[in-house]
Amino acid sequence: MKTFVELVQGDITQQDTEAIVNAANSSLMGGGGVDGAIHRAGGPVILTECKAIIARQGRCEPGQAVITSGGNLKARYVIHTVGPIWQGGNKGEDVILANAYRNSLQLAVKKEIKSIAFPSISTGAYRFPLDRAARIALETIKTYVIKHPLIQVRMVLFKESDLSAYQQAWALLVKNVN
Ligand code: ADP
Repeated sequence: MKTFVELVQGDITQQDTEAIVNAANSSLMGGGGVDGAIHRAGGPVILTECKAIIARQGRCEPGQAVITSGGNLKARYVIHTVGPIWQGGNKGEDVILANAYRNSLQLAVKKEIKSIAFPSISTGAYRFPLDRAARIALETIKTYVIKHPLIQVRMVLFKESDLSAYQQAWALLVKNVN
């Protein structure tokens, strides 16, 4: 079976993919976790561009994605998407999380980006349960990549425990297909 997505342990700010994805918040003003790390590594140009986007179109709602340049990062672009805050699972969190991945991929394809790296959206400060998030992320990516095989996708997991959750989710997904 073709591997649609690469799973690695690492730091998203160090990736050499054409784009990296930021797990942002609706204000796009930077924050903690992966968001803070990306702004620190990329430099102030990213925040300047984020502010211009907010001035133009208002807040970035959960599930949406916008794009800026990558500043000092190796990646040429940063795609900022907003995941759902976990509120128990009955507030549309699953759909919003899938939208965040899908809209990021869609924006990348529109920009003719050929490689993209994602962090584990919503599973930090936003407290989305890891196994459930891993299944949704990988299902969404796989479905998308089957239709758009030119784009290479890398999931970059910060912690070893995150990497194993994604590996398990991937194994289950592949098993259910065959
Ligand atoms: P959210 O608010 O969407 O939950 P967080 O940034 O709090 O976003 O956490 C999302 C995930 O990103 C967590 O699994 C966290 O461990 C991970 N993370 C934090 N820093 C980095 C980094 N530099 N590279 C990759 N993943 C990171």
